[in-house]
Amino acid sequence: MWTQGWRDDIWRDLERSSPLYDVIIIGGGITGAGILAEASRAGMRALLVEAKDFASGTSSRSTKLVHGGLRYLRQAQIRLTRESVRERERLLREAAGLVMPLGFYLTSFKADSMPTWMLGAGLAIYDVLGAKWAHERHNAESLVENEPSLEGAPLKGGYHYYDAQTDDARLVVRVLREAVRRGGTALNYARVETLLRDARGTVCGVVLRDVAGGRTAEVQARAVVNATGVWADDMRVKLGEKRRLRAIRGSHLVFSATRFPLHEAISLMHPRDGRAVFALPWEGVTLLGTTDVDHGADLETEPAMSSAEAEYLMEAAHLAFPSLGLELGDVRSTYAGVRSVINTGASDPSKESREHALWSESGLLTVTGGKLTTFRLMAREALDALKSTVPSVPASMNSNGESDGASRARTVRILDDAPSVDDARLDSATQLRLAGRHGIEASDVIACAGEDGVERIGDTPALWSELRWAARSEGVVHLDDLLLRRVRLGLLLGEETLHLMDRIRKVAQPELGWDDARWEREERAYREVWKRAYGNTF
Ligand code: FAD
Repeated sequence: MWTQGWRDDIWRDLERSSPLYDVIIIGGGITGAGILAEASRAGMRALLVEAKDFASGTSSRSTKLVHGGLRYLRQAQIRLTRESVRERERLLREAAGLVMPLGFYLTSFKADSMPTWMLGAGLAIYDVLGAKWAHERHNAESLVENEPSLEGAPLKGGYHYYDAQTDDARLVVRVLREAVRRGGTALNYARVETLLRDARGTVCGVVLRDVAGGRTAEVQARAVVNATGVWADDMRVKLGEKRRLRAIRGSHLVFSATRFPLHEAISLMHPRDGRAVFALPWEGVTLLGTTDVDHGADLETEPAMSSAEAEYLMEAAHLAFPSLGLELGDVRSTYAGVRSVINTGASDPSKESREHALWSESGLLTVTGGKLTTFRLMAREALDALKSTVPSVPASMNSNGESDGASRARTVRILDDAPSVDDARLDSATQLRLAGRHGIEASDVIACAGEDGVERIGDTPALWSELRWAARSEGVVHLDDLLLRRVRLGLLLGEETLHLMDRIRKVAQPELGWDDARWEREERAYREVWKRAYGNTF
């Protein structure tokens, strides 16, 4: 799947046979991927088109948590929290190795206005919603004993509890590939330029442009879904609708685990505004985030963290981890993502609701907002909303899991069962990791290893064979697709990636079929985008 020439094959089909799809999904983030997965599972003829790379929008730029979201509980968003913790439990069961449990210390500091017992009360509700009683109280000494990086912090105490984490971009790729295996079609670097409308003004297709090749095609469908996240208004205004979304940026700093060691995640309230900030171990590095600011920049350029956001996060680091003496110079890489929330005009961006929205306007169904964690529920709601226009949506498809849909919602898996990996050269964590990330293709990933294939790339958990596999078979169009999203070296190694470039080139160039001039162009473009949007420029 997605080997050299695959995009040309799809474009040829689109240009020659003018197919009629049941549904076209615009946007290849987690929301679009989930809808493609559910639609193809239901036997619908479905096409997903993504303007850039799969997951290149917000879905590769999250905090990587699969969680109920304690902060949502604080805002009394009970429904969102309940749905999210249930989805977390499902994903932990079905995507082991890709979605993994993560212990958290919810910390309380001497200057915090909220009493520690209140954190405990919140966690009790959280555990009840997730049907899992797992939180426990810690005093300041025991917090430091468990997480020595907290040494010297003005702690009152806190609680330990469980949530989960994932690799967001890999989750998108796994969901998409399983959807394609079930008969769906997914195409990256294919931008929807125009919405086609019938005589009554109802949306009935799209005009697509091949961003990587210049081709165009008109594609018809019974239904069109706008899953373009923070870009959703751009599609809606084509129909004369008013903008309803607010673009809010959140950014993260990435440190090496040696410089900023953590066994589990730490959640704290920022001393400036009481917002929740997380420091968490992820893929061998430590992430610190996030911020919540009005984006205010052009959505067409890669979002990047501002120096004010970097300072804000460092302020939290200095409060909670004073003994580490962290400085901006320790930052390995950075990343920023922009979420769409429904604009109520709240003065503080953090006060806007994170619930997802579903709007049907002139036959265009927009699904936006929400969370990575709840992608399956959003997909089910979307298909439910298409029932009246697409006869092939099964009657039992009920997003709320009520009535006849309830049994389906309980029993249908999100991801296909992944056989376990059994290879004596790999430790058990790597075997689980490969099974989770690659599902039934894990054995192909190992089989494509060259002589050093099962060796790790630098100090990351990623293997050289994963890089080779991604270049060969995961729809890479540009080098940043490979180095930022398929194998996440740009985040994990930061500038170190550039030192490995000769070896990366030796593995990837033949698989991608690029000549030297193309490789050099791609490498220049990668360096430029990394420096501007992922580097430490502070
Ligand atoms: P996107 O991933 O942005 O996908 C939309 C896609 O549409 C883009 O790839 C874009 O290129 C494409 N597109 C746009 N216009 C067109 C067009 N004309 N034609 C074709 N394609 C087009 N959620 C969690 O559950 N856990 C977390 O820890 C978490 N942390 C977060 C941290 C931050 C800083 C942010 C901002 C969000 C976080 N979220 C988290 C929320 C989560 O990341 C988002 O809800 C989710 O990724 C949105 O996915 P999406 O598919 O709707 O949008």
